[in-house]
Amino acid sequence: MPIATVNPATGETLRTYEAMGEEEIERRLQLAEATFRTYRTTGFEERARLLRQAADLLEEDLEELGALVTTEMGKPVAQSRAEAAKCAKAMRWYADRAASLLADEEPDAADVKDSGASRALVRYRPLGPVLAVMPWNFPLWQVMRFAAPALMAGNVGLLKHASNVPGTALYLEDLFHRAGFPEGCFQTLLIGSAAVDGVLRDERVRAATLTGSEPAGRAVAATSGEMIKKTVLELGGSDPFVVMPSADLDRAVRVAVTARTQNAGQSCIAAKRFIVHEAVYGAFTERFAEGMRALRMGDPMDEETDVGPLSSEQGVRDLEELVQDAVRGGARVLCGGERPGGPGWYYPPTVLAGITRDMRVHREEAFGPVATVYRADDLDEAVLIANDSDFGLSSNVWTQDDAEVDRFVRDLEAGGVYVNGMTASHPAFPFGGVKRSGYGRELSGHGIREFCNITTVWHG
Ligand code: NAP
Repeated sequence: MPIATVNPATGETLRTYEAMGEEEIERRLQLAEATFRTYRTTGFEERARLLRQAADLLEEDLEELGALVTTEMGKPVAQSRAEAAKCAKAMRWYADRAASLLADEEPDAADVKDSGASRALVRYRPLGPVLAVMPWNFPLWQVMRFAAPALMAGNVGLLKHASNVPGTALYLEDLFHRAGFPEGCFQTLLIGSAAVDGVLRDERVRAATLTGSEPAGRAVAATSGEMIKKTVLELGGSDPFVVMPSADLDRAVRVAVTARTQNAGQSCIAAKRFIVHEAVYGAFTERFAEGMRALRMGDPMDEETDVGPLSSEQGVRDLEELVQDAVRGGARVLCGGERPGGPGWYYPPTVLAGITRDMRVHREEAFGPVATVYRADDLDEAVLIANDSDFGLSSNVWTQDDAEVDRFVRDLEAGGVYVNGMTASHPAFPFGGVKRSGYGRELSGHGIREFCNITTVWHG
C-alpha cells in the first residue's frame, strides 16, 4: 500500500509520501535509544509538564486537525474533533496520575520479614523504545492511548502508523516536538508494513504494541515471540449487544444505532451483533432498522452528516462481499444493502436478519455500518450466541434485572461488559480483549504498567 493521503469522500489522491529508507530508519532508532538514556531519568513532574503542554497545543489545533483526520480517513468532521479533544483529556489524565499509578509499592511487612529483608519495594521502571503499529480508524486516539502513558512512564515511542494517515502521523510527531519533548521521545517512521519486521528485530526496540487486524497482530506477535519482546495486541471485535425484555427500548434503539454507525461502523468496539430476546425482537428490530434508515450519509466535512464514507475502496468491497454472502445464504435485508453510485467509498447503514452460523458475517468482523440481528429465546441462548465468536473485545447488555446483569458479567467472554450503554473507552478504565481480540490492556493503571520493568528492590 503506498503511503498517501487519499480523500475517501472523492477517491482523489492528495499527496503521496516517500517511505523512509534504511539510513533514515537507522538514524531514528539511534536517536530513540540515545534519547531514552536521558529521558528515563526525568521526573514525573517534568514529563507531566510536557504532556500538558502537548494537550494545550492539540486543543489549539482542533479545527485544523479535525479537517486533516477527516480528509485522510473520512469520518464526519465533528467526530474527528471529538477524537482530538478526547486525546487531550487522556493526556491530562495521565499527566495528573502517572506518579501515583507508578509509585513504589511496599509489600506487606510480614512478607518482607518472611523474605529475610530489612526493607523491600517494587519500582516501575521504563523499558525503552516501544514500537507502536497503529490503525487509521481512530488515527489520533489509538496513538495517544499508547503515547500518553508510555511517555509518562519514561519510555520513548516509535510510531508506524497506517499507510493512509501519514499526515496525521507527522502531525503527532510535530506536536510532541513543539510541546518541548526532547527530539527522539516520539518519532514517526514513515514505512510500509513490510518494514515492520526489521524494526521489531532491532535490539534497540524493547517492546511493541499493535492495534489493528488479526493478521497484522499475528505477524507482530510472531516476530516479538521470536525476539522475546513484550507485546500488547488490540485486534478486531464483533461485539454483542444483547437486549432483554426489561430494557428501556427507546434508549436501547437509539444507542444501538449510534453504537453500530459511529465512525461509519469502523470501530473495533462497535456493537456489531444485536441479540434480542424474542419478547422484544419485533419491536426492537423494526425501530432499529428505522433508525438506521434515517441516518444522513454524505460528505464528512458537512457538520450534519451522520455517516461518512469508509476509509478505502477495499473496505467497501470487503463489506459488500460479507453482505452478499449473507444474502446468498438466506439473510433478509431490513435496510441498506446496496452501494450507492457516484464517487467516494460510501456504504449505507444496513441491517441483516435471519443470520445463520455458516454465514461469513456471523464469524467475521463487519468493518462498516452493517448490523446483524439475532433472535434469542432466553438469556442462556443470548449468551451462547454472544460467545459464539472468535472475538472477545467488549459487550453491551440491556436489562433492568440485576440477576441478569450478574449472569452476563459472569458468562460473557469479553474484556468489557457495558450495561445499559455502549462501549466507549475512557482513560480510567482498562481496555482490551480476550480470545482473538488480543491481549494486554491499554488505559488506566493497567495500561501504563504494561511497558514497565516491574523491579523488585530487596535490602538485606
Ligand atoms: P491493519 O490492516 O491490521 O493495519 C493496522 C496497522 O498494522 C497498520 O499500521 C498496518 O500498516 C500494519 N500492518 C498491517 N499488516 C502488517 C503486518 N503483516 N506486519 C506488521 N504491520 C502490519 O488494520 P486496519 O485495517 O488499519 O484496522 C482495522 C482493524 O483494526 C480492525 O480489525 C479493527 O477491529 C482493529 N482495531 C482494533 C482496535 C482495538 O483496540 N482492539 C482498535 C481499532 C481497530 P499498513 O497501513 O502500512 O498496512
